[in-house]
Amino acid sequence: MAKYTGPKCKLCRREGGKLYLKGERCYSDKCAFERRPYAPGEQGDSRRKQSEYGQQLREKQKVRRIYGIMEKQFSNYFSRAAQQRGVTGENFLKLLESRLDNTVFRMGFATSRAQARQFVLHGHIYVEGRKVNIPSYQVSEGETISIKDSSRKKNFIKDVLEVNEEKTPPEWLSVDFDKAEGTVVSLPERDDIDQHINEQLIVEYYSL
Ligand code: SF4
Repeated sequence: MAKYTGPKCKLCRREGGKLYLKGERCYSDKCAFERRPYAPGEQGDSRRKQSEYGQQLREKQKVRRIYGIMEKQFSNYFSRAAQQRGVTGENFLKLLESRLDNTVFRMGFATSRAQARQFVLHGHIYVEGRKVNIPSYQVSEGETISIKDSSRKKNFIKDVLEVNEEKTPPEWLSVDFDKAEGTVVSLPERDDIDQHINEQLIVEYYSL
């Protein structure tokens, strides 16, 4: 499936919920979903009742878009999760949540996952003092994630840190904004991940 390059807000309206794809704008009254909380092309909230398959497909697409992952890689995550011990749906979400780009976003070092991904790709992010420019890198318990010293002086990074320093990171992370450094205290548990996701629908989708 090709990468979607259209307006991001359209995706939220299509999926019927806020996916938080545009950083600070998502928390402001400029959010397109707040203004028009219905699918593009529809009038009012007259969405058609979805089939079971339709619901599974939409949930899969919603989560794929939240994490900004292409279809092939997304289904690879599912295969990995299915091979692990425990509950497949939870394993799946934990794998997505422990990606380096998501971790950078959750630490507050970026205002969106898309921006976090750019920071990683452009070499601004270090893991255990070494540059890691792979957004899908899986973080491990105890690892330290930091912003490269010279990058911390760049205005666009300073702006992000200033905006986010008052925010509280999730419990699985600890962050020191003065040092632009954070630690993975423990790997994320299901309770640390968006409760609006119904991962069972995704398990059903891939089990068809
Ligand atoms: Fe979605 Fe609103 Fe953010 Fe646009 S501004 S990406 S509609 S949450």
